[in-house]
Amino acid sequence: TLKHAEEYRQPEISQSLVRRIRSASRRDIRLMEVCGTHTMSIFRNGIRTVLPETVTLISGPGCPVCVTAQGEIDAFIEAARTEDVIVATFGDLMRVPGTGSSLERERAAGRDVRVVYSAADAVEIARKHPDRKVVFPGVGFETTAPTVAASVLSAAAEGLKNFLVFTAHKRVVPALFALMEMQAVRIDGFILPGHVSVVIGTGAYQPLFEKYRLPGVVAGFEPADILQAVYRLVSQIESGAPGLENAYPRAVTWAGNPKAVQIMETVFRPADAVWRGMGQIPRSGLKFRSRFEDFDARKVLGIRSAAAEAPKGCACGQIITGVLTPPECPLYKKRCTPLNPVGPCMVSSEGTCAAYYRYHSFS
Ligand code: SF4
Repeated sequence: TLKHAEEYRQPEISQSLVRRIRSASRRDIRLMEVCGTHTMSIFRNGIRTVLPETVTLISGPGCPVCVTAQGEIDAFIEAARTEDVIVATFGDLMRVPGTGSSLERERAAGRDVRVVYSAADAVEIARKHPDRKVVFPGVGFETTAPTVAASVLSAAAEGLKNFLVFTAHKRVVPALFALMEMQAVRIDGFILPGHVSVVIGTGAYQPLFEKYRLPGVVAGFEPADILQAVYRLVSQIESGAPGLENAYPRAVTWAGNPKAVQIMETVFRPADAVWRGMGQIPRSGLKFRSRFEDFDARKVLGIRSAAAEAPKGCACGQIITGVLTPPECPLYKKRCTPLNPVGPCMVSSEGTCAAYYRYHSFS
């Protein structure tokens, strides 16, 4: 077995996996990856081009910025416009267009919007500016949410009152249930996310697997990791024996990281959330527990995330659910480019439109 990331980068291993996939694959199948880092790795390494015609990879709702609802983006902008507020955000949110503005435009207009690399950096800004409120937009899946929760705990421990989080966090498993219910596209198997699974563990997908009996394999991010997952999915499908497998055991366990989950669950509780392109999904988001609501930007600033229209003509919602591919969007490469993005799927470096634009030059 391969134990080290180095081995997964060796081209011979990838080539041998491609051969095995080619000889095992008979029927046409569609496999969905639900992780932006997988999407990028698949494109960067040309994985779609080496697979047999029988295997189609489709990108699902794996890019955290892309699945953030338009109303949530608008709410971040409203926070930036609020007096005495500093918005401290991850850089990839800066250019995401809200209805009529973006955080970047707000900064250009003189609002205090700062790029940080972690929620802890935002806490540090709050420490330095006790007279102002620092709002951190909490965007991301279970990979990010525990670190944001940890920063809330540290702010609480030191009695910091001016650090606020606008939670727009999302939980992956409820979204997979919703995708299955929507039946918008045919999915024959899931390439399950590596980073998220480090936290929630392979076991978190068991209820999904029990309900739908759909093959699912947790994958790492090297080319051989992804090919390995594809090979296992093909084998499961061809043998008629669907399973839930972990092809990334060097990082992911069945139970995940209970400590990280506990931190997340101390601060947040599951709540219904709206996803771009998917609407409201039960228990797919995270809200503050009442004893931490002093850190809740929604409550403290009184900002709501109202329903809002996606940018006109942008098909990001259908791209996220695998219904369309970027070249099927009329704006792709015309009005919408990474320099002039119309929707979040082009803004985010993990977005499917950005991945296509960068690596799929022939489309
Ligand atoms: Fe939206 Fe641009 Fe992607 Fe079209 S190409 S779906 S406008 S982000």
